[in-house]
Amino acid sequence: MSDRALTLLGANALFAAVSAALFLTQGWEPVIFPLYGLIFLWNDHRHDDEMHIIFVFLATAAAFLLMARESAAPARVGLAVEALGIWILSFGIGYHRGRLAAVRTAALAETDKLEAVSKDAERELKFYSTYEASAVAQIRLRRDMTQAAKSLGTTMDGDEVQRRLLRIVETRYKGTKVQVLAGTPKDPQVDWAVKTKTAVLVRDMKTEDRFGPRPAAPPFRSALVVPLTVAQKPYGFLRLDAAAPDAYSNDDLRTVDLFATLASMTLENIRLYEEAHQLATHDGLTQLATQRTFHQKLKDELLRAGRGQMPTAVVMSDIDHFKSYNDTYGHQAGDELLRTVARLLTAHTRPVDVVARYGGEEFSLILPNTLRDQALQTAERIRAAVAAEPFVFQGRRTKVTMSFGVAVFPTDAATQTQLVRVADERLYKSKESGRNQVTG
Ligand code: GH3
Ligand code: MG
Ligand code: MG
Repeated sequence: MSDRALTLLGANALFAAVSAALFLTQGWEPVIFPLYGLIFLWNDHRHDDEMHIIFVFLATAAAFLLMARESAAPARVGLAVEALGIWILSFGIGYHRGRLAAVRTAALAETDKLEAVSKDAERELKFYSTYEASAVAQIRLRRDMTQAAKSLGTTMDGDEVQRRLLRIVETRYKGTKVQVLAGTPKDPQVDWAVKTKTAVLVRDMKTEDRFGPRPAAPPFRSALVVPLTVAQKPYGFLRLDAAAPDAYSNDDLRTVDLFATLASMTLENIRLYEEAHQLATHDGLTQLATQRTFHQKLKDELLRAGRGQMPTAVVMSDIDHFKSYNDTYGHQAGDELLRTVARLLTAHTRPVDVVARYGGEEFSLILPNTLRDQALQTAERIRAAVAAEPFVFQGRRTKVTMSFGVAVFPTDAATQTQLVRVADERLYKSKESGRNQVTG
């Protein structure tokens, strides 16, 4: 039971006791006031202001009526004291209630203030947690970017770049379907991205209308498509799909675009390197290896052959009477002839063999792991192919032949210089013996 309830109960008991004592000693008339007080307190308990005033008014009126009827002076004084008592009680309760209300108002004001402070703190906390989330996202993005740049920048293989790009994006976007593909696009989103050379964000396929008619049941709802462009030409694309709509934001689009740009830059570097390497090591007219490349490769090959006790053959060859061909048909026809011979040499050798343009109209071959008989057969096959080729220039047909010299390591020579010299000497033997033949 609360303190207030106890106080009320005590006061009521007191009034009941006073009422009972008055009734027993004085009769019913003086009892009316303590009874009024009782009802009064009960009423106060119910916080009924109007009833409170009515009771005070009725009690005072009753006191005056009774006083008018009473002739004895002590009884009239008693009634006046009781009426005064009711007024004091009413004032006391009013004062008490006023104080309570003031305390309550102050408490409410304090609560409001605290609530406002707590709301401010909440807002601040929210701001900081948003800020923290974005700071963490920024740090994570920077870390991923650095790793991606390191990972993508340290390979010289285009396929490996694609694999690494796939891994980077899959790690960052777990649970998403990622594809990195080179080549021609198959679907409208990719087609659009590649054609416009811009990254595409599809928030929801069901409301998307940039790519022609919408499919009734799209296999995905969200997509991110970023083209990979190398040397300003479409190379392939990077694509992210998700079953749910709104899976990717504009930030994701920018991030994925950055990854794709890093990959594109690496692919571009690889292409430039390969182009420079090709230019430095291959002949511009025939696309065959240069003399320098031939010597480098022969050095490597002989080292390997020496370790593995394997024979390596070298073939030196020269077009017969090329000067007169040039003189008769012109330099352009001569160039065309050189290109055709290069094609025939490549066609009649294995991928492991090295075909080089040694100089002017001289060509050399490295045939790894090849015995003398096999090397002679290869040279003979090429000789026959050249002799049988109908060289046509501006409608005129002509016959061309070549002479060959074959030398085999380690039987014919122990060093690289010796090996090439022996092959060269045998080539000249072929020339001296009437050309269009193989000497080995
Ligand atoms: P042989 O049968 O003794 O080899 O006679 P040949 O005329 O082929 O020999 P020679 O070495 O006298 O002539 C080589 C000619 O090849 C001389 C040169 O004008 C020509 N030549 C060298 N490089 C090129 C080239 O890149 N294009 C063209 N069209 N001709 C070239
Ligand atoms: Mg010649
Ligand atoms: Mg020559």
